[in-house]
Amino acid sequence: MVAKEKMKLKSKGLTDEIYMDVPRDELNETVNGYYRLIGGENKNYDKETSRRLRAFGEELYRKRSYEKFTAFKADHDDMIIGNHLRLFSFCEHHLLPFFGEVAIGYIPNNKIFGLSKFQRLVDKVSSKPQLQERLTYQILEEIKNRLEPKGVGVVIKAIHTCVFARGTQSTSAEFTTSAVDGIFKENHNTKQEFFSIINSDGRLRL
Ligand SMILES: [Zn+2]
Repeated sequence: MVAKEKMKLKSKGLTDEIYMDVPRDELNETVNGYYRLIGGENKNYDKETSRRLRAFGEELYRKRSYEKFTAFKADHDDMIIGNHLRLFSFCEHHLLPFFGEVAIGYIPNNKIFGLSKFQRLVDKVSSKPQLQERLTYQILEEIKNRLEPKGVGVVIKAIHTCVFARGTQSTSAEFTTSAVDGIFKENHNTKQEFFSIINSDGRLRL
C-alpha cells in the first residue's frame, strides 16, 4: 500500500490492516470479475463501484473494532431486554447478506452497560462474514464476558438472501436461533419471561 493511501486511512481514524491483503487495484479487479459473473458488461463497469464497496468496508471495520463498552454499577437485578435490534451480516458460505432482528436479555450482577451498547454489540460481531448460529453464541459470550450477569438470553430472527435468491429460493423462510445461559437456562420461569416479553405482540407506538 502506498504511503499516501496509508496517510489517508490514518486521517479517517482507520488502520491499514483491513486493506493489507486487498490492494486497491486487486479489489477493483475482483469487483469487476463479480460484476461480469452476474451478467454485467465490461464496457458498463463503473470503477467507482469498487470505491463504494471500499467505503462500505470501512464502515464495517469501524463497527467491528468498536470497543467503548463501559460497564456501570447497578444495584438491581431485574431483567433488561433490548428487542428489535437491527442485524445485518454476510453468510460466510455465499458472501450474501442475511438480515433481521436480535433480542438480548440479561439479569445483571452489579454491572450494566448503556442501552445503546446492545446495538453496538450486535454490529460488532455481525460486521463480517458469519453464520447465524455462531453469531448467536458470540453475542451471548460477549455479554457474559463483559458483564458477568446472572443470566443471559439471545434470539435472532433473520432472512438469508442466499436462501431467498438462489438454491431453493424460499422467499418466506425465516430462521430463528437462540442461546441461553445462567439463570435463563436453570430457571424455566425466567426463560419464559424473556421469551414472552420479546414475542409479545406490538411494538412501541409513539
Ligand atoms: Zn449462505
